[in-house]
Amino acid sequence: MLKLDYLIIGQGVAGSCLALKLIRQKKSFLLIDEDKHKASKVAVGIFNPVVLKRFAPIWDAEAQLNWLYRYFGDFEKLLGQSFISELPVYRIFKQAEEIPVWKRKSKNEALATFIQAQIIHTKHPGISTPFGYAKVKKSGRIRLKECLQFFKQFLIEQNLYLQQRFDYDLLKMKNQRMVYKDITAERIVFCEGFGLKSNPLFNYLPLIGVKGEVLKIKTDGPVFPAVWKAFNFLLPDDEEHCYTASTYDRDDLTPEPTENGKRQILKHLKEIYTGDFEVIEHTAGIRPTVIDRRPLIGEHPEWKNVFLLNGMGTRGTLLAPRMTEFLYDFMEHQKPIPAEADLRRFDKLYYKN
Ligand SMILES: Cc1cc2nc3c(=O)[nH]c(=O)nc-3n(C[C@H](O)[C@H](O)[C@H](O)COP(=O)(O)OP(=O)(O)OC[C@H]3O[C@@H](n4cnc5c(N)ncnc54)[C@H](O)[C@@H]3O)c2cc1C
Repeated sequence: MLKLDYLIIGQGVAGSCLALKLIRQKKSFLLIDEDKHKASKVAVGIFNPVVLKRFAPIWDAEAQLNWLYRYFGDFEKLLGQSFISELPVYRIFKQAEEIPVWKRKSKNEALATFIQAQIIHTKHPGISTPFGYAKVKKSGRIRLKECLQFFKQFLIEQNLYLQQRFDYDLLKMKNQRMVYKDITAERIVFCEGFGLKSNPLFNYLPLIGVKGEVLKIKTDGPVFPAVWKAFNFLLPDDEEHCYTASTYDRDDLTPEPTENGKRQILKHLKEIYTGDFEVIEHTAGIRPTVIDRRPLIGEHPEWKNVFLLNGMGTRGTLLAPRMTEFLYDFMEHQKPIPAEADLRRFDKLYYKN
């Protein structure tokens, strides 16, 4: 029998942040992942503390940013790679009426640290900004796909990773410990993203899949380095390539990219980019979103030592480090999880025992 402190299921951004935390805390663990339908592999990794549709700060933004730098800084040190780039988000105004709203909001105390009031009219080749644009600060990009790929390799080399599907029927509880095949662990943490829907212990929770598609394009020249945001975004990856996305589909939850998704992205790309380009990659993933748009973390209502780290929605890069901290403090030090993120907020409405 392999005797462990933790068993982690899923190596998206959530499971990876938890594994990193356990390495730092010198806890023993094994991570099981089937490496299929991983939203974190599709995510471009943009982090941005503002809801750009409504010009509002996101929940808990400053603390989430601090933890993002701590965790991805540690991934960089551990793996000897660079994953973090600080990049402004430039919000392109679609109509003149948006400008007074932006100016008014930039005086709001909660937003002032994140957005600049000034309207910019500097032109950049290929970028269409007829009404100008304005800057979001403290934003950037994590090269999430690369980070998780390098981390997977590290875990394999340390014998901490098993590539296989976790079979829920084989999980047993014995003397307060989890038993799975020839492994026994003090705690198990499920980090399956949208895969939660197949988990009989947690699939009562109101997790809604929202499919998103992304295109990688080869441009006819370099695009100024920033996240250019109108309805969709355009993000240069290097001198010749950009990512552009995204779609939000709650009906089609198949993991494959679609022609319809591609059409929608290309339609909105015209609002940002006027240069020539060629589509060279098209990917899709399912975001694990919750009805109240808050994460889902905590302990199962009845199964002790069975935990969940999920509900990262559209913002896995920002949320996963902070949520890992909350969950770890709860599991190891019984520190309460903030009510907004605690999965027990859904007990009354959804849990039938
Ligand atoms: C198109 C698109 C663009 C996005 N862009 C951004 C962005 O720019 N910035 C941002 O912050 N977020 C973005 N997101 C959101 C982000 O992808 C998610 O918030 C995040 O990836 C969720 O991470 P996760 O670890 O919870 O789940 P996932 O990344 O889906 O990982 C779950 C893992 O669990 C494994 N798994 C599931 N069930 C089992 C099982 N039974 N046995 C073994 N393994 C299992 C899967 O194989 C997978 O590897 C985007 C999402 C999409 C779809």
